[in-house]
Amino acid sequence: MPVPKRKNSKSRRDKRHANKGMDVKTVAVCQTCQAPVSSHQVCKQCGYYKGQKVLRTKTDRMHERTQTRQADVAKREAIQTKGTAESEKSDKKADKK
Ligand SMILES: [Zn+2]
Repeated sequence: MPVPKRKNSKSRRDKRHANKGMDVKTVAVCQTCQAPVSSHQVCKQCGYYKGQKVLRTKTDRMHERTQTRQADVAKREAIQTKGTAESEKSDKKADKK
């Protein structure tokens, strides 16, 4: 039975263990946007997995936000163009209070 002549220092031992966890990971390509993706994972660029939308990405949320803002602006403009009739009513209500 081989017996070590001297004790390995902590430094030598830790250097040996430092490479234990290293692993080369395979990189796949997203089918929808061709971005590099780790295999069996949802694409973080477009939120698709196996051709189905799974995640709401940051760009999706930005797009929804701009749409709601545009809708709000359109509503405000519609209210302003309706005329002064409604504004007069609100003025009367304010006078009653
Ligand atoms: Zn993608």
